[in-house]
Amino acid sequence: MRKIIVAGNWKMNKTNKEAVSFLSELKGLVGGINEVETVIGAPFTALSDAVKEVEGSNVKIAAQNMNPNESGAYTGEISPLMLKELGVEYVILGHSERREYYGENNEFINAKVKAALNHGLKPILCVGEKLEEREAGKTEDVVANHVQGGLDGITAEEMKNVVIAYEPVWAIGTGKTATPEQAELVHNFIRLLLIDLYGKEIGEGVTIQYGGSMKPDNAKELISQKNIDGGLIGGASLEAKSFSEIVKAAL
Ligand code: 13P
Repeated sequence: MRKIIVAGNWKMNKTNKEAVSFLSELKGLVGGINEVETVIGAPFTALSDAVKEVEGSNVKIAAQNMNPNESGAYTGEISPLMLKELGVEYVILGHSERREYYGENNEFINAKVKAALNHGLKPILCVGEKLEEREAGKTEDVVANHVQGGLDGITAEEMKNVVIAYEPVWAIGTGKTATPEQAELVHNFIRLLLIDLYGKEIGEGVTIQYGGSMKPDNAKELISQKNIDGGLIGGASLEAKSFSEIVKAAL
């Protein structure tokens, strides 16, 4: 049985106070749900209080980015040591917004994945094609390149702590969700690739989330697909009630 993970990616939203108030509400809404791992990706400024707020609950905290170095002259960056000390458990890496707006490439993202694993943080590696790439019939090439590039040098044992999020860029923030069938085709492709790279047991065990306009009313159909093991949710994770409905849809 694969772990089902429903994670919110707040992106650049919520002050520290807003984050704490959201988490206080969310704890009540998802309390007792242990079949689904509930994760919130908060901004760096809210991570410390977010971790304290969820202590003793079933909600876990993720960072949305990380520098691969432990320390040094990298103005404005946050290191794995800093996240680990706070009690952060997951880190979202290689999100398409970071690839697009901050020029992150596979090599840099791969260094981050390695650094996260070396420090006991679980990476959520985001992969996915742009609209023009899909229309040019390159979806599988792009996704394979993101998966292989992001995971270069990662061992089968380490893969037990890696989560993949398939996020077609054309579905992010657009309200245009991939159909469950469209998403499942790509998830199945990623699954076969992981089995090819790491063997059946490890490949079958990796959680592959779907992301891109997932909402309470489409989550169930998406997550019920064979290789869709939860979601990475942007817009619909900003409100505790609607996010909790997605968590419940994954039950
Ligand atoms: P939306 O749910 O707002 O489309 O965002 C998805 C996403 O980018 C999650 O990382």
